Amino acid sequence: MKCAVFSTRPDERRYLEQYARDSQIEWVFHSETLHPRTVSLARDCQAICVFVNDQLNASILDQLHAYGVRCIALRCAGFNQVDLSHADRLGIPVVRVPAYSPHAVAEHTFALLLAINRKIHKAYNRVRDSNFALEGLLGFDLHGKTLGIVGTGKIGSCVARIAHGFGMNILLHDPIPSKECEALGRYVALDALLSQSKVVSLHCPLSDSTRHLICTQSLALMPPKAILINTSRGALVDTPAVIQTLKSGHLGALAIDVYEEEADLFFADHSGEVLQDDVFSRLLTFPNVLITGHQAFFTEDALQEIAKVTVANLSSLLAGQPCKNAVGKASLVPTAIGHNGPRHSSQTEL
Ligand code: NAD
Repeated sequence: MKCAVFSTRPDERRYLEQYARDSQIEWVFHSETLHPRTVSLARDCQAICVFVNDQLNASILDQLHAYGVRCIALRCAGFNQVDLSHADRLGIPVVRVPAYSPHAVAEHTFALLLAINRKIHKAYNRVRDSNFALEGLLGFDLHGKTLGIVGTGKIGSCVARIAHGFGMNILLHDPIPSKECEALGRYVALDALLSQSKVVSLHCPLSDSTRHLICTQSLALMPPKAILINTSRGALVDTPAVIQTLKSGHLGALAIDVYEEEADLFFADHSGEVLQDDVFSRLLTFPNVLITGHQAFFTEDALQEIAKVTVANLSSLLAGQPCKNAVGKASLVPTAIGHNGPRHSSQTEL
């Protein structure tokens, strides 16, 4: 089975090759992201393997289907970039890696919190410049302060455990409470969480109902000088609204690993170019904003797990077996794209 891999980074290629060694998967690696101008790279492939910023809207799915692509493997947990109902209509199964390392993302969340609170990003540069003044580096103890966690799934629960170790009070918000988290903190309504937390950290998925969950109104609920952390998905936050709240001085600090319009920026070196995104450029000017470029997942452990699960997902589909990591309705029915031959006449064998 030929599988076009989009947005390939050298670091993950090694692991994908290693885990696919004894499988029937033949990778065709591309560093390009999947978008209308690059979709033709999937021609002659029966599967594609994509990452967080690859676009899978209806028109791209139609083109992939016309090229003979019969399954899509996501190398990530979130699937907000895929028009799932259209993939269902085309009968294309979509599989993902639901949990490669919640610890990687939770630990990065705390790296951001500790850095922005204790101004490590400023201190690093100052010390290298032989400036040992402390002015402007004042932080606060995390111990005894309240952390609000929005979304207490795999990553949010890890964040709760780490926060518990720091001696923080923990408020939680999730439509489906977790027993483990109930022992660490208290579930409250979102408004109560926002108005009582010194630090708010977002760990819910992006959907129509969570898009711009953090907006002008919700930011106004937060206490003055609170810290907002987002390592989940950029569009959970209305960035222009956050900029206004930072300008007014109400929001104490912002630390993000994800950004609404990150697809044109992240995972590539733009250091020789003029940034065209004025909203992002404005964010970079604030001394109390810390940004990393979607690297929270980026640990050796997570990369190995992503490659291992991706190969297992594709191998199940290839064998015509249901895949436990499928998302969407089409994925619930094994579409017989493996050795048993096609179930639908339009489907080719992988
Ligand atoms: P998960 O599915 O285990 O947990 C998500 C939780 O959010 C669930 O408990 C769900 O009930 C809850 N939720 C849904 N709607 C909500 C709402 N309106 N308010 C509050 N909670 C809500 O997912 P996870 O593995 O913990 O991942 C969380 C998110 O982290 C993913 O959706 C993904 O976008 C993001 N992520 C980011 C990176 C990164 O590198 N920055 C890596 C992996 C995942």
